[in-house]
Amino acid sequence: MANKKKLIIIGIDGGNFEILNPMLKKNFLPNLKNFKYKTVLKSVIPPATCAAWAGFSTGNLPGKTEIYDFTIIDDDSWKVNFIERKRLKGKTLWEYLDKAGLKSCFINIPLTFPPDEINGVMISGIDAPGEMYNYVHPYKFKEKLKEIGYKIEIPSSYNKEEKIKDALEILDKRIEAAKYFLKREFDFFIVLFRASDIVQHYDWDKRRIRMVYKKIDDFIGKIKNKDLIVMSDHGSEKIKKTFNANNWLEKEGYLKIKGKRKRISFMGINKKRIYKILGLLKLTFLTKIIPRRWGKKIPTEKIGFEEAITTGLIDLTKTKAIAKRAVKSAQIFLNTKKRSGIVDKDEEEQLKKEIKEKLKRLFEKNHIKCVIKTKEELYDSGRYAPDITLYIEEKGYDTNCSFLENKKIWDNPRSQHIAEHNLEGVIFTDLNLNLNNASIIDLTPTILDYFKIKKGEFDGKSLMPGKNI
Ligand SMILES: [Zn+2]
Repeated sequence: MANKKKLIIIGIDGGNFEILNPMLKKNFLPNLKNFKYKTVLKSVIPPATCAAWAGFSTGNLPGKTEIYDFTIIDDDSWKVNFIERKRLKGKTLWEYLDKAGLKSCFINIPLTFPPDEINGVMISGIDAPGEMYNYVHPYKFKEKLKEIGYKIEIPSSYNKEEKIKDALEILDKRIEAAKYFLKREFDFFIVLFRASDIVQHYDWDKRRIRMVYKKIDDFIGKIKNKDLIVMSDHGSEKIKKTFNANNWLEKEGYLKIKGKRKRISFMGINKKRIYKILGLLKLTFLTKIIPRRWGKKIPTEKIGFEEAITTGLIDLTKTKAIAKRAVKSAQIFLNTKKRSGIVDKDEEEQLKKEIKEKLKRLFEKNHIKCVIKTKEELYDSGRYAPDITLYIEEKGYDTNCSFLENKKIWDNPRSQHIAEHNLEGVIFTDLNLNLNNASIIDLTPTILDYFKIKKGEFDGKSLMPGKNI
């Protein structure tokens, strides 16, 4: 059909103006600079990649998508589950487009494994366990992707330099795959480039991160479609200080630790040691072929949420609340009777209020901007939502919820990540959209309006002119 409307979206994971602005000023990214409109695209709390893309794909906030991070805690036990496509609640953008008879192509969008059999192409994102599984629909394209050397995500390697190297290699292959699929007929096309986020975490504002944006900018320059949106799922910033949430809960008497906070894992196994041993045996390639999900199960040298519970480090007979980390956030869960814990149903409301007020005072006293909200205030009906969420808005602050030997509340960063996500993502387009206070959850209602598809109710709003209600 001639002059058929076609919309293309390029996702730059973690794209942010702090890094982009100086490059735009120097005309280093001419294609991004050329866009008529460039502004902030707000992310969701927490601005975690999967929570944000779940919001993009459904037009709803985490309280409705039930995706609050990479994991979900059961509400009747302390079991930690990895998120997956079937846990994403709500009708998705690809389902709407498919039902309307439109042909679409989704490349690397999170929460698309196993790939839905849409009219078009779907290549799964970060939640796919690995290339040995079927991560592409239609299956016939798997051979082509193999030929290109396409990879879904970097392996769970310990080594920072290898992660950066892998991310750069994957970016080149993904650009190649995107170019291949762009030659085909689609009404809607989206590809996500993850390299910007991965490299930024370790290598803020250096040559390699500039190279990532340059490669994406060159690719954008080759797209001849006039209806084009470039956007990120969240922003990014450098971290200078951390708030140790579980140390604070312990100090306030809500959390009880028994025994030593030293690692009590089998034969002292942790990622750093495994990586060292594999290096000595020249077997580090193994980290590239094991499914990432297994890699994530290998403990790091810090004791995390799940391990502290399963090893009995936390005394659940005397603990009322435990914090789990998400980007710049502490997600606090109550040890409720439903979880076989000690907090009575009648006590829950009062306890949430009390912890929230105490946290609020602490952050006010230290002049650190933050959002502290209960489950009901922030996530409405979310069944698996944390009981209290602390999101630190103040630039340069992150949270730490691992169980440390020290009892400090405020600490120096201990993560390999020198930068973390924040709420200020980016959007670039020539389309005439109402971009004031635009949020990532506005994209699905906007895209549906663009294609004149009848839609339901969303937390997000359409950005199309005249539709911004
Ligand atoms: Zn992201």
